[in-house]
Amino acid sequence: MARIGFVGLGNMGAPMARNLAKAGHRVAVFDIVPTALEAAAAAGLSPAASAAEAARGAEVVITMLPAGKHVRDAWLGAGGMVAASGPDAVLIDCSTIDVATAREVAANSGGREMLDAPVSGGVMGAEGATLAFMVGGTKAGFARAEPILQAMGRKIVHCGEAGAGQAAKLCNNMILAATMIATCEGFILAERLGLTHQALFDVVSNSSGNSWAMSTYCPVPGPVPGSPANRDYKPGFAAALMAKDLGLAQEAAKGSGANTPLGAQALAFYQRFLEAGGGDKDFSGIIEMLRKG
Ligand code: NAD
Repeated sequence: MARIGFVGLGNMGAPMARNLAKAGHRVAVFDIVPTALEAAAAAGLSPAASAAEAARGAEVVITMLPAGKHVRDAWLGAGGMVAASGPDAVLIDCSTIDVATAREVAANSGGREMLDAPVSGGVMGAEGATLAFMVGGTKAGFARAEPILQAMGRKIVHCGEAGAGQAAKLCNNMILAATMIATCEGFILAERLGLTHQALFDVVSNSSGNSWAMSTYCPVPGPVPGSPANRDYKPGFAAALMAKDLGLAQEAAKGSGANTPLGAQALAFYQRFLEAGGGDKDFSGIIEMLRKG
């Protein structure tokens, strides 16, 4: 079993760290919010005095932080975790951040294996250890990280070199957002044409218009009882997080010269949804805004 340092005990990080401990690893944790650290200590994890302290002596060091600037500061800033980590430690960032920062941090890891390993599956996936990990980094780094990630997830894909995990995550969520919006529009048109939600679902979920947004995460109540539409769009995956990921995708598209007009339109729609107060709702709740026009 490994000694692991884990930094960032928010909605995702706290249950991920608990699952590592459940799998028998020794986990030292840190968060700048004292109550998050206290809750982790109460759950049997070992609180550290700083991020650097959590990294010191660990074989594997993991971060789960809000955005690129937090990740850069935590790893490379004064008293940073790269400097505190042993020369043979494997460093893993599971946050969703921009590709450029992921590559920058990896390039400044002092020769240590550094992986970007963003996740999909949300808080339920973090709690149930069923996350999907998309991983960027060397093959050797991936081989060392995989058994650790298995304690927190069930699908772990090596996508390529540093930054490839973030790239995969941004592409996936851009496709998801555009598909969700298209699915919502299908239901809105069906309503106007006098078609029931169930009739459209029964046809599309067995036809060429099918998608995860339709068959698993249906944006209207009824056809898929577990979808957020059945609980007034309580997330799930909050619209604010989708807007963040779409922003990162557009940044990456601009930086690489990729033409992604649907991604740009999806970002504009989600920004409007946030401005109208929808940020805390599930991202499928955008159907309510689209219905109004
Ligand atoms: P969160 O805001 O709940 O948690 C982030 C934690 O990091 C907070 O507890 C905060 O105090 C801590 N933190 C910030 N700066 C720190 C620092 N310098 N040192 C130590 N701790 C610090 O966010 P979350 O929902 O847990 O998401 C984390 C990451 O995972 C984000 O990048 C998010 O986009 C991504 N993600 C979230 C979900 C989801 O459904 N919540 C799904 C997939 C991916």
